[in-house]
Amino acid sequence: MTTKDLPRAATPTAPFGTDITWTNWGGNQSATPAFTVRPRNEQEALDAVRFAIREGLPVRAVGSGHSSSPLVQTGGVLMDMSGLSAITGTDKAGRRARALAGTTINAFGDPLWEQGLALGNQGDIDKQQIAGALATSTHGSGKHLGSFSSNLRWVKLINGYGDIVEIGEGQLRELRAAQVALGTLGVFLEVELAVEDSYYLQEQITYPTWEETTATWQADLDNNRHYSFLWCPENDSCELLDLPGAPGLSMANRSYTKRYNVASIQDEREISTVEGARLDRSYRIYPGGFTTQFHELEYFVRSEDGFAAVEAIQELIRSKYPEQKYPVEVRWVKADDAYMSQFQGRDSTVITLTTEPGTDYWQFFRDADAVLQEFEPRAHWGKIHFMTRSRLERLYPELDTFIQVRREFDPRGIFLNDHTRALVG
Ligand SMILES: Cc1cc2nc3c(=O)[nH]c(=O)nc-3n(C[C@H](O)[C@H](O)[C@H](O)COP(=O)(O)OP(=O)(O)OC[C@H]3O[C@@H](n4cnc5c(N)ncnc54)[C@H](O)[C@@H]3O)c2cc1C
Repeated sequence: MTTKDLPRAATPTAPFGTDITWTNWGGNQSATPAFTVRPRNEQEALDAVRFAIREGLPVRAVGSGHSSSPLVQTGGVLMDMSGLSAITGTDKAGRRARALAGTTINAFGDPLWEQGLALGNQGDIDKQQIAGALATSTHGSGKHLGSFSSNLRWVKLINGYGDIVEIGEGQLRELRAAQVALGTLGVFLEVELAVEDSYYLQEQITYPTWEETTATWQADLDNNRHYSFLWCPENDSCELLDLPGAPGLSMANRSYTKRYNVASIQDEREISTVEGARLDRSYRIYPGGFTTQFHELEYFVRSEDGFAAVEAIQELIRSKYPEQKYPVEVRWVKADDAYMSQFQGRDSTVITLTTEPGTDYWQFFRDADAVLQEFEPRAHWGKIHFMTRSRLERLYPELDTFIQVRREFDPRGIFLNDHTRALVG
């Protein structure tokens, strides 16, 4: 369909408002789009994109607003996708699940379990919409486990022509672009993910010193399905993220260490909610709370550089930023093939720095960015970062292919905003 064929509409058909200010979860990003549209079905979403094309307005979709980089801002049409939420199908034998794009991660839990299925891995929270998580390659931790994006097998989306199109496994070039697209390929309507047979997880929380953490680093990675830790610079670091510290021990230079492994139980009466030793359905074990706001920078280095990179950050905090007391979170993610994935071709160690809203954390983040340069870090698209087009050209071997696919799906760039245009326009 060409623009001239598009039906005329004075306003979107979905519920909409004008000049409504949107603000993200962390409170550091906001925008006042001309139209905020909340489609309740595919047709209303399509009408909204066609309306935007007709009126020459740019479009951005918003999920749960948990990204702290300027991904969502637009002065045009903001598509609030929360009205498109449902699990639309499961295939137990093929280990697949389909869901509307606005389905939150926590809304996968019970319905998948009832079919004997579960998401293969999850991150620290489960409030994100699935399309939002896919757009930024949201991940959990585990050396054999990929990000959400690595499990995308099919997507239905509205492209920049105002058409609904599907991308499946028969179109690998396009699928690898769609897996991590920063919202620039179009508006996702429905997705299919590879999932796993349902499984229970046994949690183990320990509080090793830094020396103990380093001594068992590789063994912990090899021997646990999920292994991650939060290194605490100070005794009160854990409290800043509402995590319990080690009873009777100073947390300074210790790690709050998480191990989750598959457990088999005969009966759900064996489920345990004891903090630090929970045993439960997988999707109830992964998410933490994080009710207080914070701002994060998250960088990814090759796994073989993980240890040196973490020690470089520790040295930066000790020598220059002793006031930065938040724990440093360290996780692992398996390599994948998505063109714009932070894990493209690289098994990765993830280093997350957290800071307090209302404080001037920019110099700390800039210095962290500089300190990690020797490890050629990539950055989480949904967190604060300092990536530029020239850096992407060095770091993402398939950047040109991604941009070609993006331009094929959206030749006029209606799904770009200033931030994404600079990176992948
Ligand atoms: C407290 C907290 C904990 C977090 N924990 C983790 C973690 O453990 N691991 C991790 O990797 N990340 C984590 N994140 C980051 C978070 O997962 C990402 O920022 C994620 O993208 C947010 O999803 P969202 O639904 O809020 O999307 P938004 O932030 O609303 O949007 C993100 C991107 O998705 C696009 N988008 C949304 N919906 C659609 C759609 N239907 N079609 C096309 N594009 C769309 C938007 O345009 C935007 O580009 C965390 C963030 C917070 C605040």
